[in-house]
Amino acid sequence: MTTAASVIAVVFAPEAVAEASAKVVALLGLPHCPDRHCRWFDGTLLTVQAERALHEETVAAIGAVPGVRRALHLPHGRRFHHRTHGLPRDVVRLADGVEIGGDEPTFIAGPCSVESEQQVCEIAMQVKEAGASALRGGAFKPRTSPYEFGGLGASGLEYLVRAHEKSGLPIVTEALDSSHLDAVAEVADMIQLGSRNMHNSTLLFRAGAHPLGKPVLLKRGFSASLDEFLEAAEYVLLGRFAAGHAAPGVVLCERGLRLFDDLLRFSLDIAAFPVLHARTRLPVIADPSHPAGAREFVAPLALASVAAGADGLLVEVAGDPADAWCDGRQCLPYDAFRDLARRAKIVARTARGAPV
Ligand code: PEP
Ligand code: MN
Repeated sequence: MTTAASVIAVVFAPEAVAEASAKVVALLGLPHCPDRHCRWFDGTLLTVQAERALHEETVAAIGAVPGVRRALHLPHGRRFHHRTHGLPRDVVRLADGVEIGGDEPTFIAGPCSVESEQQVCEIAMQVKEAGASALRGGAFKPRTSPYEFGGLGASGLEYLVRAHEKSGLPIVTEALDSSHLDAVAEVADMIQLGSRNMHNSTLLFRAGAHPLGKPVLLKRGFSASLDEFLEAAEYVLLGRFAAGHAAPGVVLCERGLRLFDDLLRFSLDIAAFPVLHARTRLPVIADPSHPAGAREFVAPLALASVAAGADGLLVEVAGDPADAWCDGRQCLPYDAFRDLARRAKIVARTARGAPV
């Protein structure tokens, strides 16, 4: 479980780090820094854990040290991802009118991987017409085997730009590594961080701290507890705090766990939706495609997720699934996606107690 320690997070102006941090460390009464309670992130953010909450005067004095840009006190195990009592949950905005965490579920759809300009442009137009409000497609693909197709890389990103120009859909695409962040953030309206990277804390922090401030879609590691998932989200939120980006900016994605059942690719954790909603202010969407592993299971998992409170769906769709270069077995054809989007809206309204 997450510790109940109090934390102060202090962001320094780069040119003033040495002098200002010495003053902050003195105000905190630390013998030296770093010690076991301090941690630096990319040289300008310092977090310090304390058993007890700090006095408000200490926090104010730290905030007033010249060279300190921001200081935030998180008392008694409080975290950035926690919901403030009485305040609504986050709504993450991808583009004009496209939001996640609002009244209606948001559908994000597209191919597992970008294969060509023509492929991704056609899919974009089709999924838009079928009810999607954002396009997903991988230019950098995490693959289990090093001999499988790993994505088109930079040209895949260019084709996503074309697909956005044609369809107007905002783009969701994955950064596999910190070295991809500049190129991905330039193109993406939301940066996807994959299941296998949920434990890559450097990437999590840097994705949040990227100067373009794009929201991050964080997928749950397929053997991660919910607590570990939320601590991973905390790295992204801390990155956003370090860079001074406005608060709503992280969307969680439940995408299934590796259990003992080999008839399913992964086991979707339906309980994650209500539990995460109770614990965090972040929107939570479902990826029903990767746990299903086969297209016939996608709709039941998607509908169950929406019924359990998912704020949206991330669905793999292809024009000719049998021909897809990656994950074709679980891709929905256009008509099946259209039908799923229609039914998911009805299920969401029912689950939320709205008139159908
Ligand atoms: C994907 O979304 O294409 C993907 C590889 O998902 P995950 O990181 O959840 O395995
Ligand atoms: Mn895939």
